[in-house]
Amino acid sequence: MVEDDYIYFKIEKTKHIALVAHDGKKKELVEWADRNKDILKNHFLCGTGTTARLIAEKTGLPVKAYNSGPLGGDQQIGARIVEGNVDFVVFLWDPLESQPHDPDVKALLRIAVVYDIPVANNLATADFLLASRFMDEEYDRKVENFNKTMKARIEKFGE
Ligand code: PGA
Repeated sequence: MVEDDYIYFKIEKTKHIALVAHDGKKKELVEWADRNKDILKNHFLCGTGTTARLIAEKTGLPVKAYNSGPLGGDQQIGARIVEGNVDFVVFLWDPLESQPHDPDVKALLRIAVVYDIPVANNLATADFLLASRFMDEEYDRKVENFNKTMKARIEKFGE
């Protein structure tokens, strides 16, 4: 296991979905969630503070709210990905507005790629993801085996 190049983590049938939208995209995401609430109700939902509350209000679905994005919510969701507690992301970032927490936005997008998490950054991708057969199946995501990298680094820097 420590010697394998990759390790696999299961995305269960019931996904742990994080929902995030910048201000210019909130209306789009809330309406998308409302249109798709019959699918989303079968999964665990969370999101950055404002987005989560708006979606919960509109759809009536439970959405766990982290801090607001500019106050660290993106980083909290990134940490949940690392811990294995978020395995699906819809993140409508706004390409037409600069954000005070741009480094956090980049960090969340980066960590989602590192952990082979499905991420939708626009509505079309979100629709394609929800229509995927994997929504009703388990899926093995493939992650670099950092235990192996760490072992090699300890051997290199130890002594
Ligand atoms: P918000 O955060 O849902 O609290 O507005 C989103 C973001 O800007 O990252």
